[in-house]
Amino acid sequence: MRKIAILAILLTLSGCGIKSSIIDKPIQFDAERIALTKAYLKDRYGLERDTITINPKMIVLHWTAIPTFEGSYDAFYESTLPNWRPDIENVSGLNVSTHFLVDKDGSIYRMMPETYMGRHVIGLNHCSIGIENVGGTEDSPLTEEQLKANIKLVRYLAKKYDIEFLIGHYEYTNFEGHPLWLERDTSYRTEKTDPGKDFMYKVRQATKNFNFTPIPIKK
Ligand SMILES: [Zn+2]
Repeated sequence: MRKIAILAILLTLSGCGIKSSIIDKPIQFDAERIALTKAYLKDRYGLERDTITINPKMIVLHWTAIPTFEGSYDAFYESTLPNWRPDIENVSGLNVSTHFLVDKDGSIYRMMPETYMGRHVIGLNHCSIGIENVGGTEDSPLTEEQLKANIKLVRYLAKKYDIEFLIGHYEYTNFEGHPLWLERDTSYRTEKTDPGKDFMYKVRQATKNFNFTPIPIKK
């Protein structure tokens, strides 16, 4: 009996653990980044908004392909893309970002408010929360700790928001033609492999109970 009671306490504790284990480490989100985000919503998606708040329907998992935490974090920090040329029209200067960054040891950092729009996935930024993982190159594969942290984070987000889809970045083009897909430029696509099929399979297996909608079959 006592064993059961202890187990119950442990389960309760581990269930509440995520909030306290998220470390806030904000990237720059100044007036320029907010203005560029609004412009992105308008120009790419046809959404004219007073705020950059999103209603999350999807979680997108990534890897940074940068082996260190510092290098990964720095890539998202500035408001504008490092090689942005404002004189070239139609290319947004908004820097890329996700809401979370998971270090190799499984530490979870929140880089921006969960309901701000980040730029991390073509066509679907207006409705998705992004999770980046440090590494992903041949020399720095994603770790077991990162897998566990991603599972924890997906569970936390799926309980908090009305999340319909969980996808790996490499699956994003499956949504072309789906009502959530809003990118207007048919030539604006990039080839992605992150965060790997094996990683996605494991996260999906561990979060089955949320019954996320299967992703559309690619046409
Ligand atoms: Zn990605």
